[in-house]
Amino acid sequence: MTERIIPIVDQRDPLPLPAGGAFTPGAHIADTRGRALRDLRVSVTDRCNFRCTYCMPREVFGPDYAFLQRDQLLNFEEITRVVRLFKALGVEKVRLTGGEPLLRRNLEGLIGMLAPLGLDLTLTTNGSLLTKKARALKAAGLKRITVSLDSPDERVFQAMNDAEFPVSRVLEGIDAAAAAGLAPIKINMVVKRGVNDTSILPMARHFRGSGHIVRFIEFMDVGATNGWRMDEVIPSSEIVRMISAEMPLEPAAAHYTGEVAARWRYADGAGEIGVISSVTQAFCRDCTRLRLSTEGMLYTCLFASKGNDLRALLRSGASDADLQAGIARLWQARSDRYSEIRTEATAREPRIEMSYIGG
Ligand code: SF4
Repeated sequence: MTERIIPIVDQRDPLPLPAGGAFTPGAHIADTRGRALRDLRVSVTDRCNFRCTYCMPREVFGPDYAFLQRDQLLNFEEITRVVRLFKALGVEKVRLTGGEPLLRRNLEGLIGMLAPLGLDLTLTTNGSLLTKKARALKAAGLKRITVSLDSPDERVFQAMNDAEFPVSRVLEGIDAAAAAGLAPIKINMVVKRGVNDTSILPMARHFRGSGHIVRFIEFMDVGATNGWRMDEVIPSSEIVRMISAEMPLEPAAAHYTGEVAARWRYADGAGEIGVISSVTQAFCRDCTRLRLSTEGMLYTCLFASKGNDLRALLRSGASDADLQAGIARLWQARSDRYSEIRTEATAREPRIEMSYIGG
């Protein structure tokens, strides 16, 4: 087996086992900045069939990249147990991510195991397998979905996603998700100056009045392989101005504290868009997210460079109480605020890849 190419720091520290329980089941636990643990992102695979340039550039994630082997991944029983434990720690929302989560075999089986927990369960996908899977996901208990789509234009789509896959089939997948009754459907568009900024207005026009919500995402320095530069970032304020000049927008209130996207509704009632502004309007102050990698490492920030090994404890017979106390301790010690301290220099620091922990 070829040596696994790890272009990033990949250190695992054993999860600290605290003395005594440090949480009240069902109650929110708070980190050092008073932020509650509310959202868990679960990556179910490190593999993807696209090679988005801002996430999984082909020159790094090429044919020699040794992805994780099946026995290294948390199995569905382990994921379900972990999610159940997090629910008791106050988690209300679970997002399944990847890589591309629909590549994980029988993902609807996992959704069927998680749905009875009664959490707000959603999933982020590149849409390539949605036409095939939408009905099964819905039947298994998934209620809503987010699709990553960086342009409705084939040439621009290829420039951003380097996917040997036609954009028309992603659009068909979105229609299949709507037909299956998944709602709301959110569309995530990462905007990179000089690559797909010409698609901002076509994207807004395409989904306006559809009921689907496009979220325009500032290009971020995630991971250590996407060659991020500040001058390739288009600030959300500029995106809102551009759209509003043609289709007037007005600000809309957040649904809840910690909502990632700032909401803007069309003044004529034709729906809404969102903007996610990690670079120009950091939202770390209300960040309530913890990430679980597909092999069971916990990360307290998207821009982390260190994870804590939950899998080792899971597989060493640790009790539910020990696991929960450890997770509680990890969160209570959390102080992450990367987007508030980002500089061109910090952007070059080695960190975990987004494809490994999910966006
Ligand atoms: S940079 Fe880290 S702490 Fe800030 S919002 Fe993103 S994930 Fe949360």
